[in-house]
Amino acid sequence: MHFDIQPIGVIHSPYKQKFAIPRQPRLVPEAKAKLVFCADFNREEFVRGIEEFSHLWLLFRFHETADKGYSALVRPPRLGGNARKGVFATRATFRPNGIGMSAVKLEGVEYKNGQLALLLSGIDLLDGTPIVDIKPYLPYSDALTDAAAGFADTRPETQMTVTFSEQAEDFISKQGDYPNLRDFISNVLKQDPRPAYKKKQENPQNYGMNLYDFNIRWQVDGEHNHVLEVAQAESD
Ligand code: SAH
Repeated sequence: MHFDIQPIGVIHSPYKQKFAIPRQPRLVPEAKAKLVFCADFNREEFVRGIEEFSHLWLLFRFHETADKGYSALVRPPRLGGNARKGVFATRATFRPNGIGMSAVKLEGVEYKNGQLALLLSGIDLLDGTPIVDIKPYLPYSDALTDAAAGFADTRPETQMTVTFSEQAEDFISKQGDYPNLRDFISNVLKQDPRPAYKKKQENPQNYGMNLYDFNIRWQVDGEHNHVLEVAQAESD
């Protein structure tokens, strides 16, 4: 049996590349996104009553990596990139069918200029991610506080600290349309986005990422991130 799936919407997210996206939703609450419905589902009826729920499950396609296929064994970043686990025992992106799921916060429903959208926060999705289904999060059934979670039993914590250069502070303070930009950058960096093998290499190391249309450059030295520069990305 084979079947087709039609996306119902697409995510507009500040995360413009995979690097530095947190490994699960809600680790960075400032990550706001918009789920914009596709034409066939662009009617308020489809979401009537949804605002009664504070959180939603999003099912989506790992579209950026889906055509790279899958493997039976993967190396979860939580295990330092060394130990291998069965793909179905992990949340890895390289999986058969390339389907992801995230529980995210619903901030509101927007219907503007004939376009239906959900306003979300705490997302871990790349810009342009196709959404294949939405379901309300049901705490009485979905929140299992006594569940065992193997190698991912606790929220990942790091000791990483973050400071900003004078240029970065000054630039951020002028971005009135992005009031949480400083906290957003700070919380993304506190997740320590470096790949496991990089953590073993010599410090300091410089990195770059895009959030919204900003270029962010920072330096990692031990457990410390220093944001060197925040600037407007070149438009293409
Ligand atoms: N909460 C999801 C995602 C876990 S994997 C789940 O459990 O299924 C998390 C990683 O997915 C992030 O670090 C990010 O780099 C990656 N990711 C997010 N959106 C993606 C997309 N559209 N295509 C490929 N990878 C994506």
